[in-house]
Amino acid sequence: MSKAESDAKYYQKHRARIRRMQNTYNRKRYASMTPLEKSARLAQGHTHWASYTVRLRIEAFEHYGGMECFCCGETNPLFLTLDHINNDGGEWRKRMANAAGQNQQGKRYLQGTNFYLWLHKNNYPALALQVACYNCNLGRARNHGVCPHVS
Ligand SMILES: [Zn+2]
Ligand SMILES: [Zn+2]
Repeated sequence: MSKAESDAKYYQKHRARIRRMQNTYNRKRYASMTPLEKSARLAQGHTHWASYTVRLRIEAFEHYGGMECFCCGETNPLFLTLDHINNDGGEWRKRMANAAGQNQQGKRYLQGTNFYLWLHKNNYPALALQVACYNCNLGRARNHGVCPHVS
């Protein structure tokens, strides 16, 4: 019996136990990861594009205040987004899309991943942006510019 064969046989016999050990190990390892490592881990196995967009977002967060919600301190990058400080995201997008002649056909211009790509290509210009979690971002938008955590 070759080494590979005997390894396979060993694995067959002890499969449940080996899997249990691996699960415990993975859980412990995941629990001790930093938010950045966790997001990198979650991006693994997704498409190349998905992990690229995760990298783009992390890069942008680092340019606009760091990996932390300005309001509640959330640090998990999967919860974070870029927040227009003056609540003028819609207006700003319209202006930029107009300037680029994209208003009619390009409704999604400067939204989502396109926005992060645009920031990257333009060397992260000095815009009134801050890092906020989705909760505080949405809360601010619904509460006239102040997160409900504050008022
Ligand atoms: Zn927050
Ligand atoms: Zn908040």
